[in-house]
Amino acid sequence: MAGSLFLFNTIELSVAGQGSTPKIKEIVLGRCYEYQLNTIGPKAEKWKNCNTIWDAFHKAFAHKNPCDPKSSDYEPFFKATGMQELSKSLFWSGTYKVAHVYSDSGDRYTTLEDTLAGYLVNGLTWCGKKTDLLSSTKSDGIDYDSCPDRSVCDYTTEFWGLASETFARHARGIARVMLNGSRVDSNGTPTPYRRDSFFAKYELPNLQVGKVSELMIIVVHTNDPTGTSVGCDTDSIIMLEKDAKKRGLKVTCYDDPDDVRHILCTDTPLSSKCLFRHYSNPKMYPRLR
Ligand code: NAD
Repeated sequence: MAGSLFLFNTIELSVAGQGSTPKIKEIVLGRCYEYQLNTIGPKAEKWKNCNTIWDAFHKAFAHKNPCDPKSSDYEPFFKATGMQELSKSLFWSGTYKVAHVYSDSGDRYTTLEDTLAGYLVNGLTWCGKKTDLLSSTKSDGIDYDSCPDRSVCDYTTEFWGLASETFARHARGIARVMLNGSRVDSNGTPTPYRRDSFFAKYELPNLQVGKVSELMIIVVHTNDPTGTSVGCDTDSIIMLEKDAKKRGLKVTCYDDPDDVRHILCTDTPLSSKCLFRHYSNPKMYPRLR
């Protein structure tokens, strides 16, 4: 059973109710060039065309009512960004921050947000503004004042659902998923795995059986004053194991594995969980006292 360890909650990934991110075109283009500089190197002739990528993205939602774009409208964007097969995929649910520290910007593992498609728009908000033919030449068709709340229409899912599907389809070998052993629902029931999560709805069903050799579940723990942290033996994780096995996937599960603990303990070195056996002798590590 897990103890309380880390404070790594999910962040709200885009802000519903607010308008589109200002300068979104410039941000996406800048990210596009920088990503390719870092991953491909300075030979710009080898880079994908960032204007083509922006145009495909923009066309999917601009000049339309914000609730109108469908996931199929974003297909040209995912075609333009492309995606390679991923031998070190890392999925996450309720563990945004820790998963990204662990992935190390794609150097250790690859999250969706470490791929070009995810990186370009991660954390941004966008929605369209319906324009008539006359004003469509003057406006970029993006609403910078307000975007609908999720209760009006779930327009972000059209994009992120397809992003998740695409990412999952490219996973190969061991696919890792990092879950939050301290997440509870409104009744206080532990829910590290939720069947209404993106991971459950769009990623797990699209893992390619035969090409993915194993689904490795990694359960990590947030600082948990209620003391309800759970691990691999909890009902919610057992439900995930059943869902994955039903699909024909081999499943393993680990509670706070040492490699994750070592990384996370930089923030809480004096927590009891962080006093690894070597470090528990105060004479050896007086600095920690
Ligand atoms: P999660 O529960 O941590 O949720 C992640 C985000 O999606 C949160 O902002 C949450 O409010 C929103 N969300 C979750 N379920 C939703 C639903 N049913 N309808 C609308 N919004 C919902 O984890 P998750 O749901 O499993 O999603 C994370 C997984 O999906 C990751 O593996 C990632 O690859 C992918 N994803 C990434 C983003 C992103 O913005 N980078 C967004 C969605 C999904």
